Amino acid sequence: MQQPSLKALTTIVEEISRSGNPEAIMSRIVQQLRALLQVDVCSLYLCTPDQQHLILAATEGLSASAVGQARLQLDEGLVGHIAASLSTLNLGDAPTDDRFVFIPETHEMPYHRFLGVPLLHLRKLVGVLVIQGRERIPFAQETEAFMITVASQLAGTLYSLQSQGNWYERAPSSSAYRRLKGQKGAPGIGVGQIWPLRPHRSLDQVAEASCSDPTHEREALETAIQAVADDLESSSSHLDQHLPTDVHALFNVYQMMLQSPELHRSCCELIDTGKSAAWALRQTVERMAHQFQQSEDPYLQARGEDIHNIGQRVLNQLLSRDSLSKTLPEGDLILAAELISIADLAEFPLQRIQGIACTRGSTLSHTAIVANALGIPAVMGLDSFEPEQHAQSQMVVDGHRGECILNPPAALLHEYRRMINEDQRFMQDLERLRDEPAISRDGFEVSLLTNTGLLADVTPGLQHGAEGVGLYRSEIPFMIHDGFPTEQEQYSLYAKVLHAYAPRPVSMRTLDVGGDKQLPYFDISETNPYLGWRGIRFSLDNAQLLITQVRAMLRANAEYGNLKLLVPMVSRIDEIQTFRRHVEKAVSTLEREGVGVGMPPIGMMIEVPSAMLLLPRLAPYVDFVSIGSNDLTQYLLAVDRNNPRVASLFDHLHPAVLVALEQIQKQCESLGLPVSLCGEMASDPAAVLLLLAMGYDCLSLSAFNIPRIKHLIRSVSREELKPLLESTRLCQSEADVRSLIQPLLEAAARRHG
Ligand code: PEP
Ligand code: MG
Repeated sequence: MQQPSLKALTTIVEEISRSGNPEAIMSRIVQQLRALLQVDVCSLYLCTPDQQHLILAATEGLSASAVGQARLQLDEGLVGHIAASLSTLNLGDAPTDDRFVFIPETHEMPYHRFLGVPLLHLRKLVGVLVIQGRERIPFAQETEAFMITVASQLAGTLYSLQSQGNWYERAPSSSAYRRLKGQKGAPGIGVGQIWPLRPHRSLDQVAEASCSDPTHEREALETAIQAVADDLESSSSHLDQHLPTDVHALFNVYQMMLQSPELHRSCCELIDTGKSAAWALRQTVERMAHQFQQSEDPYLQARGEDIHNIGQRVLNQLLSRDSLSKTLPEGDLILAAELISIADLAEFPLQRIQGIACTRGSTLSHTAIVANALGIPAVMGLDSFEPEQHAQSQMVVDGHRGECILNPPAALLHEYRRMINEDQRFMQDLERLRDEPAISRDGFEVSLLTNTGLLADVTPGLQHGAEGVGLYRSEIPFMIHDGFPTEQEQYSLYAKVLHAYAPRPVSMRTLDVGGDKQLPYFDISETNPYLGWRGIRFSLDNAQLLITQVRAMLRANAEYGNLKLLVPMVSRIDEIQTFRRHVEKAVSTLEREGVGVGMPPIGMMIEVPSAMLLLPRLAPYVDFVSIGSNDLTQYLLAVDRNNPRVASLFDHLHPAVLVALEQIQKQCESLGLPVSLCGEMASDPAAVLLLLAMGYDCLSLSAFNIPRIKHLIRSVSREELKPLLESTRLCQSEADVRSLIQPLLEAAARRHG
C-alpha cells in the first residue's frame, strides 16, 4: 500500500468543505479515505448527541444497510474501546482480540487488520474513524500517523456535522437484535428462548384492564389473599420468640386487613363490572390507604402504609399465579428476572436451562454462584432490559464476556453455536485429566475439591475428579425449602452427600444466611445486611436451629466418617468457642442416645478481616481454616459483592487482598494449620497462579471449573511463578497485577498439561 501524502490530505479536507448535506460529507470522507489508503473498509462512527452511543454514520466496505443501525455503547467492542480510552488501536487480527464484538448488520466477517483513531474536538469526543483490511498484519506506522493527522483535521468539521441531519435517528427496529452489557455471572455460552420469572410490578404500575371471566378472576384474588395470609401466619410463628409483643401485634393487624370485608367487597364489586383482579386490587388499596392517611390519629395514618404493603403482597401472588399458569415452550430456555433464586431454578428441568439473565446482582451474587455450581452460563446486572417485554424471544447468554444478545441474527447465532461446540470439545478433551493429579511441572501438588450445595451438583463434582468437598453451602437446601427443614430431612440430605464422596472429606458449612442469602420463610430486613445478622451470628442467636443442624450432620457422619464442620463468618474468638461447646454437647447427647459419632474436625472460614488478624489466637480452637475470598475481598475493600454499581472495584487481585492472602498462608504454615481457599478466586486462572506461588495447596471450586484449573496447574512450574509473585508485590492496582500475569497465562494456555 502506497503511503498517502500531506497534499492528498489537504485535498480531502478542501473538497469536504465544499460538499453538501452532512450525510453526503460523511460518505465522501470514507470514500476518499478508502481510495487513498487502498484499504478494504473505511468507516466513520459518531457519538450520539447524548454521548451514550456510537453509531455507524458512514462506511465504504461494510454493508450500507448498517449505516444508522449499527450502534455500540461507549466501551463496547474495539470501536468503543477507542472511544473510552481515547487512544489509537492498530491490530493484525481484530476478531481474535478479547474486546472485539461482531456487529452482524455490518457483515464484517472477512476483515482482520484494523486501525481505529479517536476524533476529538476541543477535548470532546466526536467519534471514531476506522480502516480495515483482509490481511493479518497491523497497518504500517506511516498509515497510523496519517490516520491520526486526518482525524485531527476532520474532527472540527465532523463536530459541527454531528449536530445537524438525522443520521442518528434511524433507531433499530423493535425486533432487531440488541447487545446488552452486564457482569460476568458464570462462564459459558447458552442459547434459548427467554422465560421471564416472577414478573414484578409495583401496585401503582398496574394498568386498567378488563377480564372475560369475573368468577375466575374473583377466585384468583381469593386464592392470592389466602396465600398471603398463610405466609404471614408462618412468618409470624417462626419469628415468635424474636419479636417484641407490640411488633408481633402488627402481624395481627395485617391479618385483619387481609380479611377485612371492605377489601373483599370493594374488589369483588369492581371485578363484577368486568375489571381485572389486579386493577380492582389497586383501586381498592389506594382508596383504603387514602382513607387511613386522612385520619387525625397518627396510628391510623401509619396503617395507610400497611394496607399498601399488604396490597403489594397480594399482587405478587396474583402475578406469580399468572406466570405459573403459562405453559413452558418446547426447547432450551433462558431464565430472566431481576434476580433468580435457587428455589426458582428448582422448578425447572435443569437440562433445559441454557442460561440465566438477571437485571440485578453481580459476579458474586448467589444466583451467580449457583449458576457456576450447575455449569449454567449467567450474566448479571443487565442494564435497560425488561424480561417481560421479550418473553420467548431468542437470546444468547455469553457468560465469558458478561453480555447477552437479544434476537441474534443468523450469522451471529452461527458463530455462537460454533463457540459452544468448541467449548464442549475443550471440556471433553480435558476429561482425560479426571483421574490425574493437579500437579505443577515441578511437582507441587494441589488438592482440588469442589463447592456444592445442591444435590444436583454433587455428581458433577465426582465426574470432574474432585478430591472431596471443600465447601458444602448448607444454606442452599434451606433456601429451596418452604420452612426450616427438620433434623430428619437434613440428616437424609447430608447422608447422601457424605455417602457420595466417602471416604473423601466433606467440609459442611453450617447455615450461612443473611446478606443476599435470604430464606423465603424468615424475613431478615436490615439496612445493611452484609454487616448484620449473618452466618455464625445468626446461628448462635438461634441455637435451636444450629443444634438441629449439627445433630443432623453428626448423625449422617456416624455412617460415613468423612465429615468436617466449617463455621461461616467468624469475627470473634468467643464465636468459635461457643460453637465448639455446642458441638461437644451435641456429640455427648447423641452418644447418650446410643449414636456413637465422635468429634469431627472443626474449621472456620476466614472471611472477616478480624478473623485474619486474630488467626494465631483463634488457631487453638480450630483444626483447619478455609478462606472465603468472596467475602474477604468484600470486607477488605468495602465493596458490596452484589452491587453492579461498584462491581468494577471488586477484584480479588486487588493488592490489599494479595497482601492478606500471603499473610494468612505464612501464618497457617507456621501454626501448622491446614488452609484451603474456597471463594470464586479459586476459579480465576490469574489468581490461581499467584495462589500457587504463595504456597496454597488446597483449593475448592465449582465442579465445572475443576478441569480447566487442573489443566492450568499442570501447565506451569511453581518456580517460574515465584518471580511473578515478587513483582506483583510492587503493583499499585489490580489492573497492574492482571497485566503482569497475562503473558504467563497465555504461555500456559499454549502448553499441554
Ligand atoms: C466466600 O465468601 O468466599 C464464600 C466461599 O462463601 P459464600 O460465597 O457462600 O459467602
Ligand atoms: Mg462467604
